[in-house]
Amino acid sequence: MVCGSCEQHGYHLPLDTDNIIGFELALRIADRSKLLVMPPVSYGQVWSAKGFPGTISLSADLLKKLLRELIISLHQQDIPNIILMSGHNGNYPYLKELARELLDEFRWNNIWHFPLTFSKEVLSLAKSPQPMAPHAGELETALMLYLHPELVDLSKATREYPQAPKDYPYRPMHWKEFVKTGSFGDGGLATAEFGKALAEDVVLRTSNLINQLL
Ligand SMILES: [Zn+2]
Repeated sequence: MVCGSCEQHGYHLPLDTDNIIGFELALRIADRSKLLVMPPVSYGQVWSAKGFPGTISLSADLLKKLLRELIISLHQQDIPNIILMSGHNGNYPYLKELARELLDEFRWNNIWHFPLTFSKEVLSLAKSPQPMAPHAGELETALMLYLHPELVDLSKATREYPQAPKDYPYRPMHWKEFVKTGSFGDGGLATAEFGKALAEDVVLRTSNLINQLL
């Protein structure tokens, strides 16, 4: 089951970018690992991007409660393993926390969480430097150009490398305080070819890991 977000992704990508990327990658992973992909949970915890137009953030408590009920329903149908994935980094700590809670409460040890990460090798193919957050820049734009190019308006991509204030790591701070466009890095340099390489990298490595462990 994929959990994404409704989050502003600059001016050139749709609000449901994380849902689209997460779901499309999950379908490809499922194909190689013989899994069923449930319809995605389309809203997530997006505290950092609050204040940008279209961003909607659930509290961590509500997100966990929602996922918990979905997992309980699946568990009642004797599904042997339930895999949680996130198309949005901000959800991942809560997926892990929820799996821990379900283990403590019900002794269910078949709730898995796999992050969707990229190898250093494929990241080295990027044309632009990595910004402080992998949000709406070259990586996500490239994946969208490969998966759903009709949803990308590359003419509206911007170049912005935000510098976080010195106190950013030490107190809560919305991105809005130091990011103008809502996107990090240079989405305009993205290509569908790079998106294909990123997708194939994460699908191959994640499906291999699932096939080894489950
Ligand atoms: Zn995103």
